[in-house]
Order: sequence, then C-alpha cells, then structure tokens
Amino acid sequence: MSRRKGSCLCGALTYEIEGELDGVWICHCSNCRKVSGGTGNAILIVKREHFHWLSGEDYRVTYKLRPTYTITRCRTCGTPLPAEEDENNVYLTAGTLDDPIGVGVKVHIFCGSRADWDHDMEGARHFDERSQ
Ligand SMILES: [Zn+2]
Ligand SMILES: [Zn+2]
Repeated sequence: MSRRKGSCLCGALTYEIEGELDGVWICHCSNCRKVSGGTGNAILIVKREHFHWLSGEDYRVTYKLRPTYTITRCRTCGTPLPAEEDENNVYLTAGTLDDPIGVGVKVHIFCGSRADWDHDMEGARHFDERSQ
C-alpha cells in the first residue's frame, strides 16, 4: 500500500497517509477561505485509519470552528493540518503533503461562496517562480 508523508512549515508536525487517493477537493466556502487565508482549502479526504501522526504531539492546537468542524494547526508556524468534519474521514490540507500524489483536482465545491477576486485563474499570467 502506498504511503505518503507531509509536514507543517517549520517541520515540527509530520504525518503519514496510506492508500490510494482519488483527487483533490477545493472548497471555496467562507470557513475554508479564512482557515487557509487564500481562495479556499485544497483537501484530500483520507480515512481516519489511514492517517497517522508521526511527530509533534506537543505542537498540535485544535480549533473548533463549528460543532462538527475542527482544524488542527502547528503551535509554532500556524500551518493548517487536518480538518475533521465527520467521524470516518480527515480532511487533509493537500498543500502540506511533501510527496507527490499522482492525481489532480477533482472538484470545486461551495463555488457560490467564492471571493469576488477568485476567478479566471487560468487567464491570469503564470510564472515558474516570482514574477519579474
Ligand atoms: Zn510547524
Ligand atoms: Zn469549506
């Protein structure tokens, strides 16, 4: 079974996931925009039994956003790590993975809640690194 690792920005928190992944969900809801500070959260839905923390127990801080929606962050660097919205799965922030996943974006949800600047991503100019 394939295993992939991920971590927070400062490296204190590390985790591993197992199993195949069927694609990334991008959620544009207002909660996910605040949690990420961007257009929304890029999420991989992973069964709880397939998600394992490897390090950093003392660095984990969990915030309850709604009764059924929590997000865990690193105490030092603030990186958002798994969110939990149901009892069977974790909603893993895809940007924290360090290994390639081999699948792309599958679906955009809560598009009706998009920020008014969150459109035409493909039409905007793209650069491999910083723009000149
Ligand atoms: Zn960290
Ligand atoms: Zn959301």
